Amino acid sequence: MSDSTTIIEKIASNADTSAEAMAVLPNLVGLSREQLKEKVTALGIEGFRANQMWQAMYTRGATDFSQMSNIKKETQSLLANHFSIARAGVSRNAVSFDQTQKWLLKFADGNEVETVFIPDSNRGTLCVSSQVGCTLACTFCHTGTQRLVRNLTPGEIITQVLVARDGLGEWAGTTGKTKTQTHGKITRETPDRQLTNIVFMGMGEPMFNYDNVVAACRIMMDSDGLALSRRKITVSTSGVVPRIRDLAKDVGVNLAISLHAVTDELRDVIVPINRKYPIAELLDACREYVRLVPSRRIMFEYVMLNGVNDSPEDAHKLVKLLEGIPSKVNLIPFNPWPGAPYTCSSNNRIHAFGRILIAGGIASPIRKTRGEDIMAACGQLKSMSELKKGQKVRL
Ligand code: SF4
Repeated sequence: MSDSTTIIEKIASNADTSAEAMAVLPNLVGLSREQLKEKVTALGIEGFRANQMWQAMYTRGATDFSQMSNIKKETQSLLANHFSIARAGVSRNAVSFDQTQKWLLKFADGNEVETVFIPDSNRGTLCVSSQVGCTLACTFCHTGTQRLVRNLTPGEIITQVLVARDGLGEWAGTTGKTKTQTHGKITRETPDRQLTNIVFMGMGEPMFNYDNVVAACRIMMDSDGLALSRRKITVSTSGVVPRIRDLAKDVGVNLAISLHAVTDELRDVIVPINRKYPIAELLDACREYVRLVPSRRIMFEYVMLNGVNDSPEDAHKLVKLLEGIPSKVNLIPFNPWPGAPYTCSSNNRIHAFGRILIAGGIASPIRKTRGEDIMAACGQLKSMSELKKGQKVRL
Protein backbone atom coordinates (compact mmCIF):
# COMPACT_ATOMS: atom_id res chain seq x y z
CA MET A 1 0.00 0.00 0.00
CA SER A 2 2.92 2.31 0.41
CA ASP A 3 4.80 4.42 -2.00
CA SER A 4 8.45 3.61 -1.52
CA THR A 5 9.48 7.17 -2.37
CA THR A 6 7.72 8.47 0.73
CA ILE A 7 9.73 6.40 3.14
CA ILE A 8 13.13 7.04 4.58
CA GLU A 9 15.04 4.08 5.83
CA LYS A 10 18.50 4.29 7.26
CA ILE A 11 20.68 1.39 8.19
CA ALA A 12 22.92 2.97 10.74
CA SER A 13 26.60 2.18 10.81
CA ASN A 14 27.05 3.02 14.47
CA ALA A 15 25.09 0.02 15.76
CA ASP A 16 28.04 -2.25 16.33
CA THR A 17 30.30 0.50 17.67
CA SER A 18 27.70 1.71 20.18
CA ALA A 19 26.81 -1.81 21.23
CA GLU A 20 30.49 -2.53 21.82
CA ALA A 21 30.88 0.70 23.79
CA MET A 22 27.99 -0.38 26.00
CA ALA A 23 29.69 -3.73 26.58
CA VAL A 24 33.11 -2.50 27.64
CA LEU A 25 32.26 -0.52 30.77
CA PRO A 26 29.30 -0.62 33.17
CA ASN A 27 26.60 1.71 31.87
CA LEU A 28 25.09 4.30 34.19
CA VAL A 29 21.91 4.81 32.15
CA GLY A 30 18.98 3.26 33.96
CA LEU A 31 20.37 3.49 37.50
CA SER A 32 18.21 5.21 40.09
CA ARG A 33 19.51 8.49 41.51
CA GLU A 34 20.59 6.66 44.67
CA GLN A 35 22.44 3.97 42.70
CA LEU A 36 24.14 6.65 40.60
CA LYS A 37 25.26 8.48 43.71
CA GLU A 38 26.69 5.25 45.17
CA LYS A 39 28.72 4.60 42.01
CA VAL A 40 30.07 8.13 41.94
CA THR A 41 30.99 8.36 45.61
CA ALA A 42 32.70 4.95 45.43
CA LEU A 43 35.20 6.67 43.08
CA GLY A 44 35.75 9.42 45.65
CA ILE A 45 33.68 11.98 43.70
CA GLU A 46 31.37 14.30 45.67
CA GLY A 47 27.79 12.95 45.85
CA PHE A 48 26.22 16.14 44.48
CA ARG A 49 27.95 15.47 41.16
CA ALA A 50 25.47 12.62 40.66
CA ASN A 51 22.67 15.22 40.40
CA GLN A 52 24.64 17.18 37.82
CA MET A 53 25.26 14.00 35.85
CA TRP A 54 21.57 13.09 36.07
CA GLN A 55 20.57 16.44 34.59
CA ALA A 56 23.19 16.17 31.86
CA MET A 57 22.01 12.68 30.91
CA TYR A 58 18.28 13.24 31.13
CA THR A 59 17.71 16.92 30.30
CA ARG A 60 20.58 17.60 27.89
CA GLY A 61 20.94 14.11 26.46
CA ALA A 62 24.67 13.71 27.20
CA THR A 63 26.16 10.58 25.65
CA ASP A 64 29.69 11.18 26.88
CA PHE A 65 31.14 12.51 30.13
CA SER A 66 33.07 15.17 28.17
CA GLN A 67 29.69 16.81 27.43
CA MET A 68 29.14 17.43 31.17
CA SER A 69 30.57 20.94 31.12
CA ASN A 70 29.79 21.65 34.77
CA ILE A 71 32.06 18.80 35.87
CA LYS A 72 35.80 19.39 35.86
CA LYS A 73 37.94 17.63 33.27
CA GLU A 74 39.78 15.33 35.73
CA THR A 75 36.47 14.08 37.11
CA GLN A 76 35.13 13.54 33.60
CA SER A 77 38.20 11.40 32.80
CA LEU A 78 37.87 9.44 36.04
CA LEU A 79 34.25 8.66 35.19
CA ALA A 80 35.10 7.75 31.60
CA ASN A 81 37.73 5.27 32.83
CA HIS A 82 35.13 3.40 34.85
CA PHE A 83 31.74 3.90 33.23
CA SER A 84 29.84 4.52 30.03
CA ILE A 85 26.65 6.46 29.29
CA ALA A 86 26.46 5.28 25.67
CA ARG A 87 23.12 4.50 24.04
CA ALA A 88 22.23 1.22 22.41
CA GLY A 89 23.25 1.15 18.76
CA VAL A 90 20.67 1.98 16.09
CA SER A 91 20.74 -0.82 13.50
CA ARG A 92 17.95 0.63 11.46
CA ASN A 93 15.73 3.69 11.45
CA ALA A 94 12.64 3.72 9.25
CA VAL A 95 10.21 6.62 8.80
CA SER A 96 6.73 5.91 7.47
CA PHE A 97 4.85 8.08 5.00
CA ASP A 98 2.67 9.09 7.98
CA GLN A 99 5.80 10.15 9.94
CA THR A 100 5.63 7.19 12.31
CA GLN A 101 9.20 6.29 13.04
CA LYS A 102 10.74 2.99 14.06
CA TRP A 103 14.17 2.30 15.50
CA LEU A 104 15.72 -1.15 15.64
CA LEU A 105 18.10 -1.02 18.59
CA LYS A 106 21.01 -3.34 19.17
CA PHE A 107 22.30 -4.11 22.65
CA ALA A 108 25.75 -5.18 23.80
CA ASP A 109 24.87 -8.89 23.59
CA GLY A 110 23.64 -8.53 20.00
CA ASN A 111 19.94 -8.75 20.89
CA GLU A 112 17.64 -6.26 19.24
CA VAL A 113 14.28 -4.65 20.00
CA GLU A 114 12.05 -2.18 18.24
CA THR A 115 10.81 1.19 19.43
CA VAL A 116 8.14 3.17 17.60
CA PHE A 117 7.32 6.91 17.72
CA ILE A 118 3.81 7.89 16.65
CA PRO A 119 3.37 11.64 16.15
CA ASP A 120 -0.06 13.19 16.37
CA SER A 121 -1.39 16.72 16.11
CA ASN A 122 -1.24 17.47 19.82
CA ARG A 123 1.08 14.78 21.15
CA GLY A 124 3.70 12.21 20.29
CA THR A 125 3.70 8.71 21.73
CA LEU A 126 6.70 6.45 22.05
CA CYS A 127 5.87 2.74 22.15
CA VAL A 128 8.66 0.99 24.05
CA SER A 129 9.58 -2.67 24.34
CA SER A 130 10.12 -4.38 27.69
CA GLN A 131 11.46 -7.78 26.60
CA VAL A 132 13.33 -9.31 23.68
CA GLY A 133 10.56 -11.51 22.27
CA CYS A 134 7.66 -12.62 24.46
CA THR A 135 6.68 -15.69 26.47
CA LEU A 136 3.01 -15.26 25.69
CA ALA A 137 1.54 -16.33 22.41
CA CYS A 138 -1.42 -14.05 21.77
CA THR A 139 -2.64 -15.39 18.45
CA PHE A 140 -3.27 -11.99 16.81
CA CYS A 141 0.22 -10.69 17.63
CA HIS A 142 3.28 -11.12 15.47
CA THR A 143 5.66 -10.55 18.39
CA GLY A 144 4.02 -13.52 20.11
CA THR A 145 5.49 -15.80 17.45
CA GLN A 146 9.00 -14.83 18.55
CA ARG A 147 10.28 -16.77 21.55
CA LEU A 148 11.33 -14.90 24.69
CA VAL A 149 15.06 -14.25 24.73
CA ARG A 150 15.35 -12.14 27.86
CA ASN A 151 14.04 -9.21 29.87
CA LEU A 152 15.36 -5.73 29.18
CA THR A 153 17.23 -3.91 31.93
CA PRO A 154 15.99 -0.49 33.13
CA GLY A 155 18.85 1.04 31.12
CA GLU A 156 17.78 -0.77 27.95
CA ILE A 157 14.23 0.53 28.40
CA ILE A 158 15.42 4.09 29.10
CA THR A 159 17.85 4.04 26.16
CA GLN A 160 14.79 3.69 23.88
CA VAL A 161 13.52 7.06 25.15
CA LEU A 162 16.96 8.64 24.81
CA VAL A 163 17.43 7.40 21.24
CA ALA A 164 13.99 8.75 20.31
CA ARG A 165 14.79 12.14 21.83
CA ASP A 166 18.10 12.15 19.95
CA GLY A 167 16.27 11.40 16.73
CA LEU A 168 13.65 14.05 17.38
CA GLY A 169 16.28 16.60 18.41
CA GLU A 170 14.48 17.73 21.51
CA TRP A 171 17.06 17.99 24.24
CA ALA A 172 17.44 21.17 26.28
CA GLY A 173 19.94 23.41 24.54
CA THR A 174 19.08 22.13 21.08
CA THR A 175 17.67 24.57 18.55
CA GLY A 176 13.99 24.87 17.77
CA LYS A 177 10.93 26.09 19.62
CA THR A 178 11.37 26.22 23.38
CA LYS A 179 9.14 26.72 26.37
CA THR A 180 9.86 27.53 29.99
CA GLN A 181 9.50 24.69 32.46
CA THR A 182 9.71 25.11 36.21
CA HIS A 183 10.62 22.24 38.51
CA GLY A 184 10.74 23.36 42.13
CA LYS A 185 12.88 26.48 42.12
CA ILE A 186 14.69 25.69 38.88
CA THR A 187 13.42 27.24 35.69
CA ARG A 188 14.86 26.22 32.36
CA GLU A 189 14.18 26.54 28.69
CA THR A 190 13.36 23.18 27.15
CA PRO A 191 12.44 22.33 23.57
CA ASP A 192 8.74 22.18 22.82
CA ARG A 193 8.34 18.45 23.10
CA GLN A 194 7.21 16.13 20.38
CA LEU A 195 7.61 13.08 22.63
CA THR A 196 4.93 13.60 25.25
CA ASN A 197 3.68 10.10 26.06
CA ILE A 198 5.16 6.66 26.66
CA VAL A 199 3.29 3.40 26.22
CA PHE A 200 4.67 0.00 27.14
CA MET A 201 3.04 -1.69 24.18
CA GLY A 202 6.09 -2.79 22.21
CA MET A 203 7.67 -6.21 22.36
CA GLY A 204 7.07 -8.24 25.50
CA GLU A 205 4.72 -8.46 28.48
CA PRO A 206 5.80 -5.60 30.80
CA MET A 207 4.41 -7.29 33.90
CA PHE A 208 6.75 -10.24 33.37
CA ASN A 209 9.64 -7.78 33.65
CA TYR A 210 7.95 -5.88 36.45
CA ASP A 211 10.86 -4.62 38.56
CA ASN A 212 12.76 -3.25 35.58
CA VAL A 213 9.65 -1.63 34.09
CA VAL A 214 8.87 0.08 37.40
CA ALA A 215 12.50 1.24 37.75
CA ALA A 216 12.34 2.69 34.22
CA CYS A 217 9.01 4.43 34.95
CA ARG A 218 10.55 6.08 38.01
CA ILE A 219 13.40 7.46 35.90
CA MET A 220 10.96 8.69 33.25
CA MET A 221 8.88 10.44 35.94
CA ASP A 222 11.79 12.21 37.65
CA SER A 223 10.89 15.89 37.42
CA ASP A 224 14.52 16.96 37.14
CA GLY A 225 15.19 14.65 34.21
CA LEU A 226 12.92 13.20 31.54
CA ALA A 227 10.01 14.72 33.48
CA LEU A 228 7.13 12.70 32.08
CA SER A 229 4.09 12.79 34.32
CA ARG A 230 2.65 9.47 35.49
CA ARG A 231 -0.48 10.44 33.56
CA LYS A 232 1.56 10.37 30.36
CA ILE A 233 2.92 6.86 30.89
CA THR A 234 0.83 3.76 30.15
CA VAL A 235 1.73 0.19 31.03
CA SER A 236 -0.19 -2.36 29.02
CA THR A 237 -0.73 -5.93 30.13
CA SER A 238 -2.35 -8.99 28.66
CA GLY A 239 -3.72 -9.60 32.16
CA VAL A 240 -1.08 -10.54 34.73
CA VAL A 241 -3.51 -9.94 37.58
CA PRO A 242 -1.25 -9.89 40.67
CA ARG A 243 1.01 -7.26 39.11
CA ILE A 244 -1.90 -4.92 38.35
CA ARG A 245 -2.35 -4.29 42.06
CA ASP A 246 1.41 -3.84 42.51
CA LEU A 247 1.56 -1.31 39.69
CA ALA A 248 -1.14 0.82 41.31
CA LYS A 249 0.80 0.96 44.56
CA ASP A 250 4.29 1.34 43.09
CA VAL A 251 3.92 3.95 40.35
CA GLY A 252 0.22 4.63 39.62
CA VAL A 253 0.74 5.19 35.90
CA ASN A 254 -2.05 4.60 33.39
CA LEU A 255 -3.14 1.01 32.90
CA ALA A 256 -4.09 -0.59 29.59
CA ILE A 257 -5.52 -4.08 29.25
CA SER A 258 -5.27 -6.20 26.10
CA LEU A 259 -8.80 -7.57 26.36
CA HIS A 260 -9.80 -8.57 22.81
CA ALA A 261 -12.63 -10.94 23.77
CA VAL A 262 -15.69 -10.96 26.01
CA THR A 263 -15.92 -14.66 26.84
CA ASP A 264 -13.33 -16.83 28.55
CA GLU A 265 -13.83 -19.43 25.86
CA LEU A 266 -12.61 -17.08 23.13
CA ARG A 267 -10.07 -15.17 25.23
CA ASP A 268 -8.43 -18.47 26.24
CA VAL A 269 -7.54 -18.78 22.54
CA ILE A 270 -6.73 -15.18 21.58
CA VAL A 271 -4.91 -14.21 24.80
CA PRO A 272 -3.86 -17.54 26.35
CA ILE A 273 -2.86 -16.06 29.73
CA ASN A 274 -6.63 -15.87 30.25
CA ARG A 275 -6.51 -19.56 31.19
CA LYS A 276 -4.60 -18.53 34.30
CA TYR A 277 -6.34 -15.20 34.99
CA PRO A 278 -9.88 -15.30 33.55
CA ILE A 279 -11.89 -12.22 32.60
CA ALA A 280 -13.82 -11.85 35.89
CA GLU A 281 -10.60 -11.91 37.92
CA LEU A 282 -8.94 -9.46 35.52
CA LEU A 283 -11.81 -7.00 35.73
CA ASP A 284 -11.85 -7.23 39.53
CA ALA A 285 -8.18 -6.20 39.49
CA CYS A 286 -9.12 -3.28 37.22
CA ARG A 287 -11.80 -2.18 39.69
CA GLU A 288 -9.22 -2.24 42.43
CA TYR A 289 -6.78 -0.27 40.25
CA VAL A 290 -9.20 2.63 39.84
CA ARG A 291 -9.91 2.53 43.56
CA LEU A 292 -6.18 2.77 44.33
CA VAL A 293 -5.43 5.27 41.53
CA PRO A 294 -8.57 7.43 41.45
CA SER A 295 -9.64 9.70 38.59
CA ARG A 296 -8.06 7.43 36.05
CA ARG A 297 -9.76 5.52 33.26
CA ILE A 298 -8.57 2.09 32.25
CA MET A 299 -7.83 1.73 28.58
CA PHE A 300 -9.05 -1.56 27.11
CA GLU A 301 -7.48 -2.64 23.84
CA TYR A 302 -9.80 -4.57 21.53
CA VAL A 303 -8.45 -5.80 18.22
CA MET A 304 -11.16 -6.21 15.61
CA LEU A 305 -11.00 -9.71 14.13
CA ASN A 306 -13.37 -10.44 11.30
CA GLY A 307 -16.11 -12.86 12.35
CA VAL A 308 -14.29 -13.74 15.57
CA ASN A 309 -14.97 -11.08 18.22
CA ASP A 310 -16.76 -8.30 16.33
CA SER A 311 -20.50 -9.06 16.52
CA PRO A 312 -23.12 -6.68 17.99
CA GLU A 313 -23.66 -9.28 20.73
CA ASP A 314 -19.98 -9.06 21.63
CA ALA A 315 -20.29 -5.27 21.86
CA HIS A 316 -23.33 -5.47 24.16
CA LYS A 317 -21.55 -8.02 26.33
CA LEU A 318 -18.52 -5.72 26.55
CA VAL A 319 -20.68 -2.83 27.79
CA LYS A 320 -22.07 -5.11 30.47
CA LEU A 321 -18.64 -6.41 31.49
CA LEU A 322 -17.20 -2.92 31.94
CA GLU A 323 -20.06 -1.64 34.08
CA GLY A 324 -18.67 0.27 37.05
CA ILE A 325 -15.16 0.62 35.60
CA PRO A 326 -14.20 4.07 34.25
CA SER A 327 -13.14 2.87 30.82
CA LYS A 328 -12.13 3.73 27.34
CA VAL A 329 -12.08 1.03 24.69
CA ASN A 330 -9.61 1.40 21.83
CA LEU A 331 -10.91 -0.45 18.81
CA ILE A 332 -7.88 -1.57 16.83
CA PRO A 333 -8.29 -2.65 13.23
CA PHE A 334 -6.28 -5.87 12.94
CA ASN A 335 -2.93 -5.29 11.24
CA PRO A 336 -2.11 -8.32 9.11
CA TRP A 337 1.27 -10.02 9.08
CA PRO A 338 2.52 -12.92 7.00
CA GLY A 339 0.79 -16.14 8.08
CA ALA A 340 -1.66 -14.40 10.43
CA PRO A 341 -4.71 -16.56 11.20
CA TYR A 342 -7.12 -13.58 11.14
CA THR A 343 -8.37 -10.85 8.88
CA CYS A 344 -9.58 -7.41 9.87
CA SER A 345 -13.26 -6.65 10.45
CA SER A 346 -14.92 -4.41 7.86
CA ASN A 347 -15.19 -0.68 8.51
CA ASN A 348 -18.95 -1.00 8.83
CA ARG A 349 -18.64 -3.69 11.44
CA ILE A 350 -16.05 -1.76 13.43
CA HIS A 351 -18.21 1.38 13.41
CA ALA A 352 -21.33 -0.57 14.37
CA PHE A 353 -19.40 -2.12 17.27
CA GLY A 354 -18.21 1.32 18.36
CA ARG A 355 -21.71 2.81 18.24
CA ILE A 356 -22.99 0.17 20.67
CA LEU A 357 -20.18 1.00 23.10
CA ILE A 358 -20.87 4.72 22.83
CA ALA A 359 -24.58 4.13 23.43
CA GLY A 360 -23.50 2.21 26.53
CA GLY A 361 -21.56 5.28 27.74
CA ILE A 362 -18.06 4.04 26.83
CA ALA A 363 -15.67 6.16 24.77
CA SER A 364 -14.50 3.94 21.94
CA PRO A 365 -12.18 5.60 19.45
CA ILE A 366 -11.14 3.58 16.45
CA ARG A 367 -7.39 3.60 16.39
CA LYS A 368 -5.88 4.85 13.19
CA THR A 369 -3.44 2.35 11.78
CA ARG A 370 -0.02 4.00 11.84
CA GLY A 371 3.31 2.92 10.43
CA GLU A 372 1.86 -0.11 8.66
CA ASP A 373 4.24 0.36 5.73
CA ILE A 374 7.26 -0.05 8.02
CA MET A 375 5.68 -2.91 10.03
CA ALA A 376 5.45 -0.61 13.04
CA ALA A 377 1.71 -0.91 13.55
CA CYS A 378 0.15 -2.47 16.61
CA GLY A 379 0.96 -6.19 16.89
CA GLN A 380 3.39 -6.14 13.95
CA LEU A 381 6.69 -5.66 15.78
CA LYS A 382 9.19 -8.35 14.99
CA SER A 383 9.62 -8.48 11.28
CA MET A 384 12.40 -5.94 10.90
CA SER A 385 14.54 -7.92 13.35
CA GLU A 386 14.07 -11.06 11.36
CA LEU A 387 14.54 -9.38 8.04
CA LYS A 388 17.78 -7.77 9.04
CA LYS A 389 19.96 -10.67 8.01
CA GLY A 390 20.68 -9.67 4.45
CA GLN A 391 17.10 -9.48 3.23
CA LYS A 392 15.94 -6.37 1.45
CA VAL A 393 12.83 -4.84 2.90
CA ARG A 394 10.33 -3.96 0.21
CA LEU A 395 9.00 -0.57 1.18
S1 SF4 B 1 0.22 -8.97 22.63
FE1 SF4 B 1 1.90 -8.46 24.03
S2 SF4 B 1 1.83 -10.14 25.54
FE2 SF4 B 1 0.67 -10.88 23.75
S3 SF4 B 1 2.21 -11.97 22.50
FE3 SF4 B 1 2.12 -9.83 21.76
S4 SF4 B 1 3.81 -8.82 22.87
FE4 SF4 B 1 3.35 -10.73 23.98
